[in-house]
Amino acid sequence: MHIQMFINGKWIDAEKQQTRSIINPFNQEEIATAAEGSKADAAWAIKAARKAFDEGNWSQMPASERGEMVRLVGQKIKDEREELARLETLDTGKTIEESLGDMDDIANVFFYFAGLADKDGGEVIESPIPDSTSKVVREPIGVCAQITPWNYPLLQAAWKLAPALAAGNTLVIKPSEITPLTTAKVFEFFEEVGFPEGVVNLVLGTGAEVGSELAESHDVDLVSFTGGIETGKKIMQVASGNVKKIALELGGKNPNIVFADADFETAVDQALNAVFFHAGQVCSAGSRLLVEESIHDVFVEKLIARAKRIKLGNGFDEATESGPLISAEHREKVENYIQIGLDEGATLAVGGKRPENDELQNGFFLEPTIFTNCTNEMRIVQEEVFGPVLTVETFSTKEDAIAKANDTIYGLAGAVFSSDIDKAEDVASKLRMGTVWINDFHPYFAQAPWGGYKQSGFGRELGKIGLEEYTEVKHVFRNKNPQPVNWFQS
Ligand code: NAD
Repeated sequence: MHIQMFINGKWIDAEKQQTRSIINPFNQEEIATAAEGSKADAAWAIKAARKAFDEGNWSQMPASERGEMVRLVGQKIKDEREELARLETLDTGKTIEESLGDMDDIANVFFYFAGLADKDGGEVIESPIPDSTSKVVREPIGVCAQITPWNYPLLQAAWKLAPALAAGNTLVIKPSEITPLTTAKVFEFFEEVGFPEGVVNLVLGTGAEVGSELAESHDVDLVSFTGGIETGKKIMQVASGNVKKIALELGGKNPNIVFADADFETAVDQALNAVFFHAGQVCSAGSRLLVEESIHDVFVEKLIARAKRIKLGNGFDEATESGPLISAEHREKVENYIQIGLDEGATLAVGGKRPENDELQNGFFLEPTIFTNCTNEMRIVQEEVFGPVLTVETFSTKEDAIAKANDTIYGLAGAVFSSDIDKAEDVASKLRMGTVWINDFHPYFAQAPWGGYKQSGFGRELGKIGLEEYTEVKHVFRNKNPQPVNWFQS
């Protein structure tokens, strides 16, 4: 399989003919080669998107027609969900069941934004000036650059593609250089549905080369980025050149607060899923468990027993519950954090090493890992590890739980488990996070906004606000009886 870029309505290789090998993280086999673009390729894609936007064929198309084209892409994703899921599992190692779930969510994101495309007809406002009218309308922003990570390749792309298009923008997207397969496949659907030339463009390559060109270009009006905090900071800096709009979905270090009055089995099961789902490579992973002192020992004992039983394996094997990490470099980064945890004096209760089974030796596997006796000062508690590593702390009171949960630079998501709903609602209202779950962990859907407080970023994806992020607001005032003003007398 060879993956090309899609620029100005054509499939092309990189100008410099460079390619990259795409690796299956389960066995390190090459699954595809991909064009490896350069700044020049990115610049060409931006030019195509700029021209398409300025010509107005897409932005001025009736919104209902645009919505219909976005819907047709969603339908193709739904029809091809098995093939897309197969590609996603090959590329990321995640289980096929998870990939299939992702594809259903992705189709729904396209359907949701397709439906919103023609729903905001603007607003007539009461003008205080006699003989005048005043209206407020939303218009597309222009050329959008979109940069996505490797953990949810197509899901993260869908959160950006569908609203940008429904709002009438043109775009250039750059998926992570290590997971381009599904995003490229969806560009086949854009082509089949008949999107006008230059409206949607796909560039492939590294962040340093292609990504930085997208963030810097003065022909780009908005850059929407999902990825790590350090990359986000760089993007903010270079995006300032033309004061382009920025949306950042960055990392998280998400607290999961379990009170003693929570349903025990549910809370244990959810705590396990919160952190170990997709090998912990989830921005909203519940990687910081805060458990009430009185149940700590029994809770952790049960959690450890269950963590030991998690079945690692090939994502295509039905028995597999968790796949490998994405790459050798990423596994080393996570292993480095495990060493940091040990050096800081946390107690390694389970895991912390590569599995010994023969059939897992070629994959980037790491055992589910739990550190107990953690404190908020530890780096292992404060920094995003992005792997199957849980830290456990205790709390004594509700106030203590809230203070510890909020003691982080991040603010993406958090959860509270309790049978006392008033208490849980009170905690939810005091957590400084973009999403708070009560007696659950992880649910997200197209209708509800997603995004972070504090250094988890700004801007929101999904929900009505996810469409608004891709619009400018214009006030149009009309004088129905124009007269000279006569301010200046001569
Ligand atoms: P990353 O920051 O390394 O890369 C993300 C994307 O940015 C990739 O496409 C990469 O090529 C590109 N990039 C890298 N350097 C760049 C630069 N200088 N200029 C422009 N683009 C550049 O992140 P990753 O390792 O791919 O993904 C993991 C991170 O993503 C984690 O921190 C995770 O929390 C975060 N994430 C956040 C959310 C969210 O919704 N908040 C969702 C998924 C992932």
